[in-house]
Amino acid sequence: MNAILAIAEARAAGVELGLDGDALALEASAPPPPAVIESLSRHKAEIIALLSPADDGWSALDWLTFFGERARMAAVHGLTGIEAEARAFACCVVEWLNRNPARSPSGRCLGCGQAEHSHDPLLPFGTDQTGHAWLHSRCWPAWHATRKADAITTLAAMGINQPRTHR
Ligand SMILES: [Zn+2]
Repeated sequence: MNAILAIAEARAAGVELGLDGDALALEASAPPPPAVIESLSRHKAEIIALLSPADDGWSALDWLTFFGERARMAAVHGLTGIEAEARAFACCVVEWLNRNPARSPSGRCLGCGQAEHSHDPLLPFGTDQTGHAWLHSRCWPAWHATRKADAITTLAAMGINQPRTHR
């Protein structure tokens, strides 16, 4: 994760990083130290990838920042290393599910694909803001587990991993 280190160094030197189209854009009130510029250009492609937002509007860097903040907050509340990371990871999963809501038309179950039956109504999962996914209540647990697995896979691809808790 050298690109992340390069970003952290740049920020510490007062350089704001952004994207101008597909290019990396720097903003600083004073000329940054040559070492910062050098490491930014060495990791340029990776940094651009980290800064590029996904469909949910957040970049990998946004997720890493969110994870770091949640881990720090958990530590402030007295959790230790791996517990704080586990809490932060759980927060990331919830946030990902909220930012990537599932919607489906009413009248058909998103889990099994079948229609509503009088003995087995379809229920709306989700919120009014994000829209609803319609499922039979018995189809929800498996569907939700799949969604959670999607969140974990996506987060892992950005370098945020579920801590091993030895339990
Ligand atoms: Zn169903």
